[in-house]
Amino acid sequence: MTEVIDGNAVAEEIRAGVSDCVETLTDTGVKPGLATVLMSDDPASETYVSMKQRDCEEVGIEGIHVDVDNDAPAEELYDTVERLNDDDDVHGVLVQKPFVDQVDERRVLRTIAPEKDVDAFHPANVGRLVAGDPRFKPCTPHGIQRLLESVDVETEGKEAVVVGRSDIVGKPMANMLFSKSAGGNATTTVCHSRTEDLAAHTRRADIVVAAAGRPEFITGDMVSEGCVVVDVGINRVERDGDSELVGDVAYDEVAEKAAAITPVPGGVGPMTRAMLLYNTVKAASAESGVDVELP
Ligand code: NDP
Repeated sequence: MTEVIDGNAVAEEIRAGVSDCVETLTDTGVKPGLATVLMSDDPASETYVSMKQRDCEEVGIEGIHVDVDNDAPAEELYDTVERLNDDDDVHGVLVQKPFVDQVDERRVLRTIAPEKDVDAFHPANVGRLVAGDPRFKPCTPHGIQRLLESVDVETEGKEAVVVGRSDIVGKPMANMLFSKSAGGNATTTVCHSRTEDLAAHTRRADIVVAAAGRPEFITGDMVSEGCVVVDVGINRVERDGDSELVGDVAYDEVAEKAAAITPVPGGVGPMTRAMLLYNTVKAASAESGVDVELP
């Protein structure tokens, strides 16, 4: 019997715990604040930002949003980030990706103060994760770690295969899976677009994390009986004249073989959003010195 890992339910528990932390902080005069910055007229980015603002509102975090004209010079974005770094009411700063052409992505990530970098993309925070002393764990891999824990999937000693090596998903996920300090202890392989014979890797995996951004490309014949499959992909496809959201995994055929699987939607997505709220209260707690019991 395949276990469908319910990201909505686990995320709801985390959000409830975050909400309690917000209450504790607010009672001591510290209102956690998350600033989102958007320099784009891409409708998908606008949707992501407004979802994050709505999430904040639901748990009592102060959402602050700043729009920067997408034709403005890049300096305007860097200055905005610096201003938010200096704002005591802001504990987390997030600049929505993708960036417009004139903006230097690396400079944006370096400009966000590491202690407000709730996405955990600043080189100092990436370094701390790799060194086994994370200030913040990046939201998507952290959310996946929690999903695996929620269904008692032990990673220690297992063969884990991560498909994708991006800075935001693949690399930190692999790191957390093999790392001793993060409790992963899995034997971990990272696959990417130059991997020869991807299926040979995924077939021997106990745990597959698919994060390639390719609709339904992990098929049933690519996984083994009893494996655990985490589908990170979010792909919009046109089907029978309708627009549909699908993951990187051909769900029905993979679910037939998997012991546990995350659906799309309702798997990793809600966890990414919940872990952003988690990181924001963590930042507010660290900045204020007020202890909270993180969920
Ligand atoms: P990127 O495009 O940054 O990275 C994709 C990775 O997949 C690259 O490393 C690429 O290899 C690899 N890849 C591409 N094609 C293949 C292939 N045929 N075989 C093996 N590897 C391949 O994507 P992201 O990591 O940002 O995101 C991945 C997916 O996850 C997307 O669908 C995205 O929308 C989704 N996502 C979902 C989130 C959620 O909360 N659910 C959060 C973040 C992302 P190479 O390095 O060689 O180019």
